[in-house]
Amino acid sequence: MDPRTPLWQALLGQLITQSIGYFALVGVLYAVFWRWGAPWFAARRIQKTPRVDGAQVRREVSNTVVTLVVSTIHIAAILLMYRAGWTKLSSDRGAFSAAQIALTFVGLVLFNDAWFYWLHRLMHHKRLFRYVHAVHHKSVDVNPFTSYSFHAVEALLLGAWIVPAVLIVPMYLPALGALQAFGLANNVMSHLGYELLPKWLVRVPGLRWTNTATFHQLHHSQFDKNYALHFRFWDRLMGTESPDYERVFSERE
Ligand SMILES: [Zn+2]
Ligand SMILES: [Zn+2]
Repeated sequence: MDPRTPLWQALLGQLITQSIGYFALVGVLYAVFWRWGAPWFAARRIQKTPRVDGAQVRREVSNTVVTLVVSTIHIAAILLMYRAGWTKLSSDRGAFSAAQIALTFVGLVLFNDAWFYWLHRLMHHKRLFRYVHAVHHKSVDVNPFTSYSFHAVEALLLGAWIVPAVLIVPMYLPALGALQAFGLANNVMSHLGYELLPKWLVRVPGLRWTNTATFHQLHHSQFDKNYALHFRFWDRLMGTESPDYERVFSERE
């Protein structure tokens, strides 16, 4: 974040880098799991009936371009606030202990999880659903290109959690990048369409509470279950978890 770089140049650079990085990542995963390697991963496929076609992928790619452009609005907001000295971000490594960085990271993952769950529930409200979130649910059989397939308003709202976070929480700057990378990895894993995690995961205390590709796939196929992003806590607490989840997760070859 060199303060001498003009804002438009910094944002354009971010948009280009993010777009290349994102499309390279989902493109490679799509090629490996859905094309060339599909026969090898057949046993890991969550939804056995294929419903993804060229039209779905084209629609998802055009929605993704919108999401990537909207994400530069978040970057612009952070950059402007950072340059104005309003944020609690710092690039001084000496100002934070390793434990502080780790705790902040975990705390913000939990905050993002709660933000996503409640916003997601709101967007499923019968009076709101068709205007915004319906775009993401057009994909029932999800694949890596579904990960960023959002309406512009949804992209804006889902990513907005970062604004109060950088204003309130003292944070080491690279940890912000690590949070974004962690969020992207979780999102792409959720929409892979293949379950790579071992069956015993749901029997291990602690680990069983994490999100999986099966967990989110069931949100797309059952619609009003499994709203959460990173963990199963909120769905369990609010009674919105699919009763089929652990069975579907464990009953594969
Ligand atoms: Zn939804
Ligand atoms: Zn989804």
